[in-house]
Amino acid sequence: MEKYPLELEIALSAVKKALRVCRRVLDRFVGVRGYSFEKADRSPVTIADFASQAVIMAELLNAFPADAIVGEEDAGLIRKDHGIYDDVVSIVGEECGDFKDNKLSDLIDCGKRPFDPLHRFWTLDPIDGTKGYLAGRQYAVALALMEEGNVRLGVLACPGLEKTPLETGEGGCILFAIRREGTRVMKIDGGDTEPVTRKSFIPLERARLCESVEPSHSAHEIHARILQDLGISAPPLRMDSQAKYGAVALGTADIYLRIPRKKDYREKIWDHAAGTLIIKEAGGQVSDIMGRPLDFSKGEVLEANTGVVATAGGIHAQVISAVKRAIRPC
Ligand code: AMP
Ligand code: MG
Repeated sequence: MEKYPLELEIALSAVKKALRVCRRVLDRFVGVRGYSFEKADRSPVTIADFASQAVIMAELLNAFPADAIVGEEDAGLIRKDHGIYDDVVSIVGEECGDFKDNKLSDLIDCGKRPFDPLHRFWTLDPIDGTKGYLAGRQYAVALALMEEGNVRLGVLACPGLEKTPLETGEGGCILFAIRREGTRVMKIDGGDTEPVTRKSFIPLERARLCESVEPSHSAHEIHARILQDLGISAPPLRMDSQAKYGAVALGTADIYLRIPRKKDYREKIWDHAAGTLIIKEAGGQVSDIMGRPLDFSKGEVLEANTGVVATAGGIHAQVISAVKRAIRPC
């Protein structure tokens, strides 16, 4: 890949550190002491979410000090609780040095600074699918570089997603894409990379859908009506996190539907930036539920879009037509 060589090298190195952090927290904390807490919106957050955001931000800011980084987490909880703060400092310390006083909280809070969505910035979900992480299901570390409102580079590490549908074991993979240069995949611990190219046209009735595990994140019953309309009989593959984008890029699934339960819910950019580029550069297509391109130029949320539809590409128009029929006011 020719564009953004340094950005890619740093992003891959940062994400690999974050994966080690995620594994270490599971190895050391599960069954031993509390490591998961509830945020104000009642969603879970763990020591690993904070530590993952910290190691990635430290690596990015070291290489690109002028870049803005928009991250999912803030340090509110760890500023209030010294016990949690010390646990995060000790996990982060094994990857990138010691953090004294409030340095670690300040680093994490860099992710909540104002930013200009039309300039260069990174967006980070340090653990996408924290519920999946806690339950031993899928989760992802997702990092994307944005310029002029477009995703230029995306890295998606999916510890529970196999590189090919036939692979077995607990390896997982890292997918990455650069705009106009394609998508590639490697095993989770690195090594050789291979191009990822999606088969664009598939008989619709044989298409496989993937959707969130969490029923409050998308309307499963509307998805079921769309499947019926398209003549698809296989049950949906339920998966946490942006691993769903990875599954469509790799051919494990062909359609990813995210029809919002509440019409006014606006998707967060860090939940979609890396995944959308990885599907598009593999030959697939992504839009919102009305078929509009996702507009990343509006700030922290996809203000101009409703929900997400991602497909193998050749079937996109048919899927969007079925979505429109399903959500048409009766
Ligand atoms: P998933 O694993 O696909 O269910 O998506 C996880 C992401 O859903 C989290 O990172 C949240 O940012 C996001 N999320 C939280 N609440 C909602 C909601 N009501 N609708 C859609 N997505 C949500
Ligand atoms: Mg997320």
